Order: sequence, then C-alpha cells, then structure tokens
Amino acid sequence: MIVVGAGFGGLGVAQQLKQAGLDFLVLEENPQVGGVWWDNHYPGANCDVPSHLYSYDFDPWRDPAIRYPDQQAILDYLRGIADRHGLRPHLRLNTAVAAATYCDDDGRWTITTRRGDTYRADHIVWAVGQLHRPYIPDIAGRAEFGGTAFHSARWDHSVDWAGRDVAVIGTGSSGAQIVSQLARTAARVTVYQRTPAWILPKPDQRFGPVTRWILGHVPGAHQLYRAGLYHGADLVLAPIMRGGWSARPAAWIARAHLRRQVPDPVLRSKLAPRYRIGEKGILLDNGFYPALMQPHVELVTDPIERFTADGIRTVDGTDRHADVVVFATGFRAPELLGGIEIRGRGGVNLHDRWARAGRPDALLGLAVPGFPNMYMIAGPNSFTPANSNPAIKALQTDYIVRCLELSARLGAPIEVTSAAMAEFAGWLDGAIADTVWPAAGVPTWFKRIDGEVTNPWPGTVAQFGRMVRRDPATAFVAVPPPHRTLLTQSAREGKQSA
Ligand SMILES: Cc1cc2nc3c(=O)[nH]c(=O)nc-3n(C[C@H](O)[C@H](O)[C@H](O)COP(=O)(O)OP(=O)(O)OC[C@H]3O[C@@H](n4cnc5c(N)ncnc54)[C@H](O)[C@@H]3O)c2cc1C
Repeated sequence: MIVVGAGFGGLGVAQQLKQAGLDFLVLEENPQVGGVWWDNHYPGANCDVPSHLYSYDFDPWRDPAIRYPDQQAILDYLRGIADRHGLRPHLRLNTAVAAATYCDDDGRWTITTRRGDTYRADHIVWAVGQLHRPYIPDIAGRAEFGGTAFHSARWDHSVDWAGRDVAVIGTGSSGAQIVSQLARTAARVTVYQRTPAWILPKPDQRFGPVTRWILGHVPGAHQLYRAGLYHGADLVLAPIMRGGWSARPAAWIARAHLRRQVPDPVLRSKLAPRYRIGEKGILLDNGFYPALMQPHVELVTDPIERFTADGIRTVDGTDRHADVVVFATGFRAPELLGGIEIRGRGGVNLHDRWARAGRPDALLGLAVPGFPNMYMIAGPNSFTPANSNPAIKALQTDYIVRCLELSARLGAPIEVTSAAMAEFAGWLDGAIADTVWPAAGVPTWFKRIDGEVTNPWPGTVAQFGRMVRRDPATAFVAVPPPHRTLLTQSAREGKQSA
C-alpha cells in the first residue's frame, strides 16, 4: 500500500496502517515530514486552532502552557509522531509522485515518481493536502524586477531585513502574520491588499496561570477543554459559514476589534470588509492592524499594474520602491491533486473526469467512481474552515481503513458506486447552496475562478462524523479484473444458453 504525502493527513493514515499491521510506504516529496508546517517557516507562522484540537486523538498534544502552537512547535509534534509511532522506516522522503495508473488486468496501481522510479501497490491514499502548491499571480514585468522575490511558503532566511524596503502582496492569514513581523525590522513595509479580511481577536498564545493550574492538576481537564473546543466550533463557527445565528455577533466582534486597533478612519475604511463574514477565510490576529498603524508601514489598495526594475507600480501610476517582494498570495487550492497524472479503470484520467463533471467530485472527499482502491485525505470539499482539520482527516482515515477491510473481505479491489456518488453529490450541492460561499463576490481559495466551490466542507464536523459512520459496503462494490469479468460473463452466458 502507498500513501502519498507526510503532512498531518499522511502521517495519520500511516499510524493507523501501522497499528493495523499492514504493509505500506509513505512517499513524500519534501526532505522532511510535516507538510505545510515544513513548507511555511516564514516569521510569525502560527496556527489559529488551539493545539488541543490541532492534534491527533491517538497521540494528543497536551501542553498545559501553550494554547496556540507556532510552526516550529507543530513541526516538532509531527516529527515526534513519526518517531514515537515507528513510522520512519516506512518513509521515502525526497520522493515526488508524478503519476499513478490502475492496471485493469491485475487490479493494482503503478506509481511513478518524478525521478522515474516505480512502485506497485494494491491501494493508494493521496494525502497531498490542499495548500501545497504556491500560487503566484501573473504580474506584468516580473522579469524586470531587480530585487529579491519569493513566496511565503518558500521563505528565504538569508535576507537581512534591516534597512530594506519590503513589499508584501496579499493580506490573508500568512500575509497578516508576516507583516506583523517584518514591520519590526524592515525600513519600509508596503502592503498590497486586494480584499480586506474579517479579523477576529486571537486569545493569548499561552494559557493564563489559572487555566495552567487547572490543566496541570484537574483530571480530565484536557479532554474536557478539547471537547469544548470541538463542539463549540461546530456550534458557533460552522453557522457563520451559512450566514447563521453567530454571523452577526462574529461580525460585530471583528468590527469592534478593527475600531479598537485602528483609530485612523481612513485606514480603517480601507480595512473594513464589504462582504459577509465567512465568505472567505476568517483570520484570528492581534498584530496586523497595529503593524499597519506604524509610520513606516503603508497599506495600498490600488490594484497592482506591474513590476518595475526597483519596485511595484499600481494602476494609479504610483511607483513604490521595493528591495524584496514577498508573495503572500496563497495556494493553487482548487486544483486538487494538481500536477499528478492519475488514471483509473479503463485508463480514465481523473482530471478529465473532473473536467467533464464540471467539478472535482469524491464521496466524502475521499473516493471517486472508476478509481478502485484509491482514496484521498482532504480531497474535494473536505477542508473545514470552521473546526479542526485533523479531526476531519481522522474520520476520513477511519473510513478508509474500513474500506481496506471491505476490500480484503471481498478479495477484490473496491470502488464507490456512481449511485452512491450521485446521492452524496446531490446532498453536497444542497449543503453548499446553504452557505455564503456560492454567492460570494470575493476571491477566495474556497472556490475556483468560475465560482465552483471546490474545497471547503459545508457542514459541521459532527455531521461529517455521522456520514462516515455508514458501512462502506453500502457505497462500494467489488471490481473484478477484466479476465475475471470475462470468465463470469461467459459462465453467465453459458448458463443462459443452457
Ligand atoms: C500557512 C498555513 C497555515 C495554516 N494554518 C492552519 C490553521 O491554523 N488551522 C487549520 O486548521 N489549518 C491550517 N492550515 C491548513 C493545513 O493545510 C491543514 O490544517 C493540514 O495541516 C494539512 O495537512 P495535509 O496532510 O492534508 O496537507 P499538507 O500538510 O499540505 O501535506 C501534504 C504533503 O504531501 C506532500 N506532497 C504533495 N504532493 C506530493 C507528491 N506529488 N508526491 C509526494 N509528496 C507530495 C507535500 O510535500 C506535503 O508534505 C494552514 C495551512 C497553511 C499553508
């Protein structure tokens, strides 16, 4: 069995396979485990989900001091998972998968790496993440720019920021965290904003003394805290995505946060979102607004026209100098499994299927008709913007393990039926229509440029949990290899003619 990717998703699958005593390898393109937490080491990189929730249930992260982990802490935790659970011998690092092809004759997958090596496997699990491939906008004149430019997920730590003029393009989660940090050292920071984010205040990174004492001394306090976070997120954050009851108080808190931190009415007006809260990712941040208030930091809302030799020109004709440009412009998220050629039964290309369907479709974001014994973690519409992503991944992993058991029981590859897929797709369409995303006029990585909502899960995590509780046998069928199909067919024909 092959797992592709060693981020939160892939390591979680690997631990379950190890526990089940199955034979597997994890192929990972990076030189280390950690996924986005290996890629994104920009200054200030931080998580907006408390570590109690942003960790595996099988090896919970229970630090009585830290509420919100930073990038290094999460990376250390994930490395620890690989070590403590004996996953290292299964890892093949620096191994990027280029293609995977299902063989109709023997019901197995051939996986080809970018180096040209091949692996054969009965099952394949894609855990390649949604936020892995950086998106850099196509801005005119890029080649003319004489300074340094890089994406936030490819941070260049050799740059000395002191005395430098820096341009940060993008004000999403990464952009906000980066600006807060660079404003401390750079001579000038120019921040180019396309759409202002809704920003909620972030509770302190560390627990206060009372909570620390409770977590350190009261039995069951960690579990209770985690359960509170999990159910609280479903109860309060998930309805925001549907414009539900909590959207108004959340918007009110965000506006109050903006008013409190930005007294300047002109700047405040530029930062005030003019779309519904939840239509794009909500930020938890305390440092971005104060950074923008500093005299050497400028927020620019005029669209960028082009690069110049020594900076950036906006459409109003203003040139601003930059020694370094940071693209905090996000990822090619809607291009799920992008850059990988995947061929299922009959040689059908997954990306062609998704193009024909008009969207990437997958039952519970994890299985596609015509692609036997192939699964995904964090596939289409299974990223939750309102709760714990590790929790959704754990539910997908559990379901996949039950699919493996079903396949073993049936003694054949299995695949999701078109009927089960259609039923789920119908439900998903209705659930997405109930969210604020389809009508959203703002660009967001939740959806494609044509408006198709491809990435986020539209419900609660508890709802996802109820759906994966169903027996995979109700949605999957055995796929006999063609020679067996022919045998069965001729036997049936023989019977009919007898
Ligand atoms: C900067 C940043 C901050 C974030 N903050 C939060 C947060 O606060 N809260 C939250 O819930 N979520 C956050 N996320 C979302 C985050 O993506 C998920 O929470 C989760 O960590 C994703 O895990 P994953 O395993 O699905 O994907 P990833 O972590 O992306 O792991 C995928 C792995 O697959 C590997 N891979 C990809 N393609 C190939 C290939 N062809 N061959 C071999 N290997 C391959 C990659 O190298 C990577 O290691 C953040 C994301 C980013 C980018």
